Amino acid sequence: MDIYPNYIFQDVTKIDPKILKGKKLLIFDIDNTLFYSETTRSRKDIIRWFKKTHKKYPCVCYSNSFSIHKRKSILEKTLACEVYLSKYKKPSKELFQEISRRYKVAAQDIAVIGDFHFTDVLFANRNHATSILVRPIGNERKLILTFARVLENFVLFVLGFFA
Ligand SMILES: [Mg+2]
Repeated sequence: MDIYPNYIFQDVTKIDPKILKGKKLLIFDIDNTLFYSETTRSRKDIIRWFKKTHKKYPCVCYSNSFSIHKRKSILEKTLACEVYLSKYKKPSKELFQEISRRYKVAAQDIAVIGDFHFTDVLFANRNHATSILVRPIGNERKLILTFARVLENFVLFVLGFFA
């Protein structure tokens, strides 16, 4: 099982443009890659980067999330890009075939961009496309919150010590 990405970046805006050169289709993951997980919220810089990139490359978004049907139209409006729906899920080969046929592109001309090894990266690698892993965008906030909690507990501990 090949879950090692060809490239890793902090988020989509940091992707080296050279890597995308010549690609004929970019398949984007949605949750934690372009939007906060299970929401229709994102960062301005990410949306701006996406729109700029979409002018140069055909793009399509895909998510395994069960809530994608509900969010589809808002996400499409926000990105000005298709959110593809299928009965298949990443990393299935059938899904890859479906998308590559629909967009009439060969695997080597496709890059898959996402935050998860076992879906996004595997989806690209087992179908011979380029895999680009990005760090989940929700994580910074979670890390800060975790850090705040640890700090809080430490302060409480010290206060308790001197009480
Ligand atoms: Mg994701």
